[in-house]
Amino acid sequence: MTTNTETAVQTVLNYINGQWVESDTGKTAESRNPADRDDIVGRFQLSSNKDLDRAVEAAAEAQKGWKKLAGSTRGDLLYKAAAIMEERIDDIARTMTREMGKTFPEAKGETARGIAILRYYAGEGMRPVGDVIPSSDADALMFTTRTPLGVVGVITPWNFPVAIPIWKAAPALIYGNAVILKPASEAAVTAAKVVDCLHEAGIPAGVINLVTGSGSVIGQGLAEHPKVNGITFTGSNAVGKQLGQAALARGIKYQLEMGGKNPVIVAEDADLDLAVEATISGGLKSTGQKCTATSRVIVHEAVYEAFRDKLVEKVKEIKVGDGLESDSWMGPSVSEGQLNTVLSYVEKGKEEGAKLLCGGSRSVDGANAKGYFVEPAVFDEVTPEMTIAREEIFGPVLALMKVSSFEEALELANDSEYGLSASVFTTNISKALAFINDMDAGLVRINAESAGVELQAPFGGMKQSSSHSREQGRAAIEFFTSIKTVFVK
Ligand code: NAP
Repeated sequence: MTTNTETAVQTVLNYINGQWVESDTGKTAESRNPADRDDIVGRFQLSSNKDLDRAVEAAAEAQKGWKKLAGSTRGDLLYKAAAIMEERIDDIARTMTREMGKTFPEAKGETARGIAILRYYAGEGMRPVGDVIPSSDADALMFTTRTPLGVVGVITPWNFPVAIPIWKAAPALIYGNAVILKPASEAAVTAAKVVDCLHEAGIPAGVINLVTGSGSVIGQGLAEHPKVNGITFTGSNAVGKQLGQAALARGIKYQLEMGGKNPVIVAEDADLDLAVEATISGGLKSTGQKCTATSRVIVHEAVYEAFRDKLVEKVKEIKVGDGLESDSWMGPSVSEGQLNTVLSYVEKGKEEGAKLLCGGSRSVDGANAKGYFVEPAVFDEVTPEMTIAREEIFGPVLALMKVSSFEEALELANDSEYGLSASVFTTNISKALAFINDMDAGLVRINAESAGVELQAPFGGMKQSSSHSREQGRAAIEFFTSIKTVFVK
């Protein structure tokens, strides 16, 4: 997986056709720890289109044999990869924390989820893939079966550097596709550790490939490559739309999971302690860098002050620090750019008239001075037209909005170009049902935080959050296969 270097810093190679290889360019880039800029986590290849071409050719060739294996044989290899990842869980989680900043317990939880996803899709190799459809010809047999797309390009973000590559690659593999993974540059070392588990498990050469490097070269190159048959992407809206257009122009399948501006409604009858706890967990864990993170908090006026005061009291207690330290609850922003984005949204909030109740500035105490730390922020008196109520911040900033009825809350919650996740806190079943029926979001959660969904359930958004297909669970089969209707006489 690495070249031999004289320093302790490892250099991650590309993984092409079953071999760890250097890029044709001979160039690498550094991945640094956002909690300590002096800590170099590793170096990764800055690949070219030539590297990509080699990977795609290998994948196209390998897929011919891979798709012919029994699903259970492919599944056995995923079970093996899961077992290897389980042995390496601490190392992978530690690398993740060093590379993108989330706390070690969160990183370990994510890696455990990656293992569970591998096992889930290993089992998929033995489940039914089609339906028998009664024919109007009594002597004929009609049924559907599924066929893989071929070579699939998997382009992933840094915020879930183990779970997202796995929840895309595992279903792609089990249904008989070959994969080229282009991970986020901010988390390329972690991605290589994931791919190494698949390599060690004995997945045949060329079936899974890793090509690191610039998004505009490798990501875009994947969407435009004539031998790539599908693109699955998670990341920002700007990049997603560009990739979607490239895929559309080639007439290949594409799947885009993008941003969110996720609301939480706190009704007048809510359990306030639960709502406070879930707002903090949903909004601030992983430093607010989750597509499903709570961002807008819409609170009924009858409980507004009580909720706000409890929330601010708890947010002020949050310990910000290096995610490898056991007393840190919230790690750094992933990069200087992301930190500056968060700080500029805080400034914008103040300029536009929102009242900052706590946080919002850099945390530079002690060792935090070496990293991209920011104190979690809570804004009061936010109105719907303000920038912080409309744009995805992708950082630890909560915007409180006061309403005088549940109907107004629901209208405000839906007043967004995004529609990924949404929560309501209420003890009234009618309000919960109204929310389920009328909230335009792919994930609708009652008395639960906005972030997260179980791995066996469909995941994805509505409106600008998604290209409207679904990932995870059985839903993944829809993207990674095509249906064939068979008629036998
Ligand atoms: P990003 O900048 O869009 O990057 C995502 C991936 O696309 C990375 O691998 C990146 O490579 C690559 N890329 C960048 N520019 C590209 C281009 N011009 N053509 C093709 N590929 C390109 O997003 P991010 O900053 O990593 O992630 C944050 C965003 O992801 C947020 O908007 C968040 O909401 C969204 N997200 C959504 C979900 C979901 O499931 N809905 C989950 C997690 C995150 P480089 O790293 O090399 O630039």
